[in-house]
This record gives sequence, structure tokens and C-alpha cells, in this order.
Amino acid sequence: MLRRSRTAGVRNVIITGGSLKESQHALRMAKDYGMFATVGCHPTRSQDFDKFDAGPEAYLRALDNTIAKHKTGKGRVVAVGECGLDYDRLFFSPAETQKKYFRMQLSLAKKHNLPLFLHSRNCHSDFVQILREEGFGEDGGRALGGRGGVVHSFTGAKEEIDELLEMGFHFSLNGCGMKTQENLEAAAKIPLDRLLLETDAPWCSLTSTHASSAHLKTLPKPLSDVFFPPSSKTFVEGKMVKGRNEPNAIGGVAWVVSKLHGVTLEEVAEAVWKNTCELFALEDPLPEMDVPKVAAAVVARVAAAAAGPSAPSLKSESAFPALGRR
Ligand SMILES: [Zn+2]
Repeated sequence: MLRRSRTAGVRNVIITGGSLKESQHALRMAKDYGMFATVGCHPTRSQDFDKFDAGPEAYLRALDNTIAKHKTGKGRVVAVGECGLDYDRLFFSPAETQKKYFRMQLSLAKKHNLPLFLHSRNCHSDFVQILREEGFGEDGGRALGGRGGVVHSFTGAKEEIDELLEMGFHFSLNGCGMKTQENLEAAAKIPLDRLLLETDAPWCSLTSTHASSAHLKTLPKPLSDVFFPPSSKTFVEGKMVKGRNEPNAIGGVAWVVSKLHGVTLEEVAEAVWKNTCELFALEDPLPEMDVPKVAAAVVARVAAAAAGPSAPSLKSESAFPALGRR
């Protein structure tokens, strides 16, 4: 998967943590493979705070300690989150619980001077109210130690963009944010200097029934071949796994955005790259993902299982120079 991603111009990955346990797992993977991770508790998982043996304060302390231990070096934490509110999925966690623990996690961003990786679904007024009350109403909370943040997987209305822009936040788009015509209009309104892109794998892929598909149809074949290579329902060495929305698919998101903004793919890639490095304080150029190591491990497993052939060369050049250059 990482080899395919690299061929498509993906130079590194931020793995999002959705709970304490997931964040610790994300950090382990980030360290092993030279990636980055976020640490936080997703709104739909916010009952984990109450269920934690030593209580919610201890859960927050555990998140805090996890961040403190991984602030520098390989596989470091680059944001607090996912955190936020999700009123589309109250069956996982009631609104009051979500609000309480969203507010609590904002303290971590201020304490550690990290950006927020924010999740917001059908909750705009409560979401911005809590951010404002906790000091993130202006300049992304920088006066109080914050570093702004990104409202990831943005699916909100055009009107919400203005308010969040004024508060100093960035937006991130994936397939979910380009499902309908209204989504596309909102996406076109996000200024390129505040835009990030993501796959949000394995969810939120671009699909043929979405409004975005009209733009995706214009994707030139050489790019389509690397962003959406042949897939299989089960794992087959060398093929994408169907429905997994692998990182190489981010090129498709960039393509649709380029059409919505009337700019080139390279311009989108350059702007998003710059925003991402600035927001998450990533060095440029980035350390590369440890693909040979990952590939070697996979090959070793495959070889052990099947005494099969060795892996194809890892030295495939990116078919997408603008992204591949970084
Ligand atoms: Zn999310």
C-alpha cells in the first residue's frame, strides 16, 4: 500500500488517533514507518472518558502524557485530535458527553502548543461556541498557546466557512465533502491558503454516485492509473484493496479541487503542501516514509507464507512530479 502511495506522489502520512488506545497504536505505527500521528478522542468515542477505570480526569492525563512523551523525533505527535462534536451519530455518545470532553481536550492543544485536528458534524453552533469559550475564537487560539487547527472532512455549509476562517482555522477535504452539488460549492469557497486534503481512509472515498464524479471523469489516464490502480476485494500483493480508500487516492481529491478552483493540479498540490507543513510544523523536505522497511517486512511475510518471488523494484518514479518532488 505504501509503495503504491509513493508512486502516486504521497510522501508521508499523518495517522489519526480516535481514542487513547488508537492514538498509542497510531504513534507506534508512526514510529515504525517514519510517519506522524495525532492524539485525541473522537466525539463518537467520548464515552471512553467515563468508562476509563481511573475516571475521566485520568483519561485526559493519559492523553496528556502520551503527547508529552512523543513531542519530538521520529513518529511524533503533530496535532491534538480527532476531537470535536458529531450530532449525526448521537447513538454512540450523547451531545452533553461529547461537549464536555471536547472542551477538556482543547486544554491539551494550548498546553502543548499543538494544532487541533477537529471533527464537526451537524453541530456548527455548539462547535464554534465551545471553541470561542476556550479561547479559540481568534487567530486559532494562538494568544493562549494554541496553534489553530484543521476542521477535517469538512462537509459544512458555505456560511460556516466564513466564521471558521475568521477564527483562524483551516479546512480539509476528502470524498465526503464533495458528495453533493452544495458540497462542491462550499469546497470551491475554501481559499487555497487554508485548504488541506486527506483520504480519511478507509472512509470517505470518492465514488461514482457523488457530484465529484463529473470532475473525476476528466482525470487523465496516467494519473488515474496511479491514484486509482486496479483493486481486489481481498488482499492480493500488488493490488489495492477495494473499499479501503488507500492514500494514493488523495490525488483524486486534489484533481477535483483543482477543477472546482479553476487552477492546475500542481497549484493545488503546492498550496496544500505548504499549508500542511506550516500547520503541523513539519519540516520541508519531510523525512520519507520508511517504505523499503515496510516493503521488506511484507515481502518477508509473503515469502514465508508462499516462498514466493521477491518484490518488484521500489524505485518507481512518481507519475505526479508536483507531489512526488517533496
Ligand atoms: Zn472525523
